[in-house]
Amino acid sequence: MVNRPRAVLGEEVMARPLTRVLCAVVIAAGAAAAAAVGGNATAAAATTTIGTVFSGGVPLNVRVAPSTSARVATQLRTGNRVILTCQTTGPWINGDVRSTNVWDRTGNGNYVSNAYIRRPWLPSCPAATVPQPNPSNSGWVIPVPGSPVQLFRPVSNPTHDGVDIMQPRNTPIVAASAGRVVTVECNTSGSTCDVDGSPSVRGCGWYMEIQHANQVITRYCHLVRKPLVSEGQQVAMGQTIGYVGTSGNSSGPHLHFEVHVGPGYATRANAVDPVGFMQKAGAPLGVLAATRR
Ligand SMILES: [Zn+2]
Repeated sequence: MVNRPRAVLGEEVMARPLTRVLCAVVIAAGAAAAAAVGGNATAAAATTTIGTVFSGGVPLNVRVAPSTSARVATQLRTGNRVILTCQTTGPWINGDVRSTNVWDRTGNGNYVSNAYIRRPWLPSCPAATVPQPNPSNSGWVIPVPGSPVQLFRPVSNPTHDGVDIMQPRNTPIVAASAGRVVTVECNTSGSTCDVDGSPSVRGCGWYMEIQHANQVITRYCHLVRKPLVSEGQQVAMGQTIGYVGTSGNSSGPHLHFEVHVGPGYATRANAVDPVGFMQKAGAPLGVLAATRR
């Protein structure tokens, strides 16, 4: 009963033009249901379905979120038809049609309790009602899959200016964003970077740096062999630039990845935490192929 107010306000969802339906959910049942209301339903028939309100003699609240505490956007009455796009869950409601915790999203993004709606089958609302970052659109991608096992400047290793992501030897490393290669170098206290390093060897081994827009530089260390790119070369986001190895100061194959923000060269002073940076850039480290497709 909590969903049934005393006041009658009266804006009807069906008074809104169907062309305002933006949530495109393709369902077969929608065609038949929409056809029943006639008129200009045809254009939206493939993307919506139509429910009918049964709430006795009292109005049904249409709320801005699937919750009885959410603001009431408008109200519907028995017999009103309402454009529906998908269903989610919310508070349990004992209604005139059924008892359920299902709430239906309307065509303009509000919600009604499904306890008062007769309707054909509806798909579940996508989990991504919160906008999800799309790395391929943000201009950034993760350089290798996998979560960092050694973080940026932990208490136990305060001079560790990047993160370490374990990957098998020869795993491709990609440019995290478009830019210009500014450094390709062998950096080791040993005689060559073309051998496995060790904790007793100093240096990044085979490494490279890319200068990106907005004074951002990314650094990639411990490559298995000389990077595939040269200084001065332009690279695209996601372009393979080399392969994981363990050259230099390294105890096993992994990518040491740094991000620097500021004018000039990459230095200890302008190193930032890659985890936070990549999160904001829309390509969070450790988030795997699902967001890289
Ligand atoms: Zn490292």
